[in-house]
Amino acid sequence: MSRKQIVILGGGTGGTMVANRLRRRFDAEEAEIHVVDRDDRHVYQPGLLFVPFGLADVDSIVRPRRRQLHRDISFHEWEVDEVSTDRNQVRLADGPVLHYDVLVVATGARLQPEETEGLLGPGWNQHVFTFYDPAGADELRRALEWFEGGRVVVNLVDMPIKCPVAPLEFAFLADWHLRERGLRAQTELVYATPLDAAFTTPVAAAELGSLLADKEIELVTEFNTGEVDGLGGSLTAYDGRTLDFDLLVTVPLHGGAPYVERSPGLGDALGFVPTDRSTLQTAAAPNVFALGDATDLPISKAGSVTHFEAATLVENVARYLDGEEPEPGYDGHANCFVETGLGKALMIDFNYDTEPLPGHFPTALGLPLLRESRLNHLGKLAFEWIYWHALLPGRELPVIGPAMPKAGKQHVAAHG
Ligand SMILES: Cc1cc2nc3c(=O)[nH]c(=O)nc-3n(C[C@H](O)[C@H](O)[C@H](O)COP(=O)(O)OP(=O)(O)OC[C@H]3O[C@@H](n4cnc5c(N)ncnc54)[C@H](O)[C@@H]3O)c2cc1C
Repeated sequence: MSRKQIVILGGGTGGTMVANRLRRRFDAEEAEIHVVDRDDRHVYQPGLLFVPFGLADVDSIVRPRRRQLHRDISFHEWEVDEVSTDRNQVRLADGPVLHYDVLVVATGARLQPEETEGLLGPGWNQHVFTFYDPAGADELRRALEWFEGGRVVVNLVDMPIKCPVAPLEFAFLADWHLRERGLRAQTELVYATPLDAAFTTPVAAAELGSLLADKEIELVTEFNTGEVDGLGGSLTAYDGRTLDFDLLVTVPLHGGAPYVERSPGLGDALGFVPTDRSTLQTAAAPNVFALGDATDLPISKAGSVTHFEAATLVENVARYLDGEEPEPGYDGHANCFVETGLGKALMIDFNYDTEPLPGHFPTALGLPLLRESRLNHLGKLAFEWIYWHALLPGRELPVIGPAMPKAGKQHVAAHG
């Protein structure tokens, strides 16, 4: 075949992984691979959780994007302006036009704090913080250093968000951190969520809800934040309920990239890309694929998801270029360590059809699921090394395949 042009939009978790996997799959004579990202700072986002507590610093979780890409991949540091799926073209802002045979959309989700009334008003980064980006995580670290007790509210404004367990982890770690500093007795901790329970699925919600109760963190459910008064210290829901705070830790609304909204036929009203849940081909065109946070798929927005999706996506790019039908290979597999404080974590593992269940991962002899353990905490810490040295370079992990393992799970037959 003639040399194909593969263009990948976004050089974050999914884009980098896919670019390196495609480079392993095709040699330089078969395909040119291009990655576009607006900057050269690859953030290990799970590390943001630890920054506010002084357990990681921003510099240690950021590395140059270029260095994560195989040397035969072209990196373009540019903002994507628009995609024309009719012409197979990507226009870069004030820059060149890239032509493609295959396009991969991996531009993730963006934070939209401006969409909630008052959130960015007076009090932002004084009493109101987010740890969902590096600058915000660092501001919150400074605020927690000065904090001497009061009422802390952790609030996710609405779903979908990246890593839906991260705000819970923040609440658990805040409990631990305040105990360590002798401030827990003078602090009320509140977890306010728009969901009707601590988490999206029933078995995990019960487990995580009881952990909140054990740690005396008040759970406020079905709280749909409409307005924030940062200086006055109150959060008002659309149903009129209010929550007072001295310190608010918010996870703002998420949307897709603005260029996705602008590009005819590419995105939905929220800027996410309608994507086939099994093949990862988009509804826009058969030569356009998507993965990770950018998609509209009904599964967590998580790095583990991009990892499990990458295998199917790369296979289907190859099939498309060979004129074959795509394989419906992705089962919705997602997997996450949930840090619970005191050097412990639990793990959840699930897919489209099977909710997080107790048991062990990946086999009956593996890590405990939905149960706190030190082993899971060590797994969470080790994951950062695995991320930079195995996942991003596109290496296969021994034992852990893309499909959700059932062997170690309890009650799988009943639920799955
Ligand atoms: C606090 C926190 C904790 C987390 N913890 C975990 C965890 O424990 N486990 C887990 O699995 N996941 C976790 N995640 C989620 C995980 O980081 C994301 O789901 C994952 O990074 C998604 O990968 P992605 O490639 O879809 O998007 P990203 O990695 O966000 O990459 C998107 C890229 O697109 C670029 N981009 C966007 N728009 C444009 C444009 N117009 N032009 C050019 N470039 C553009 C961005 O600069 C970015 O580099 C966490 C996330 C956060 C915020």
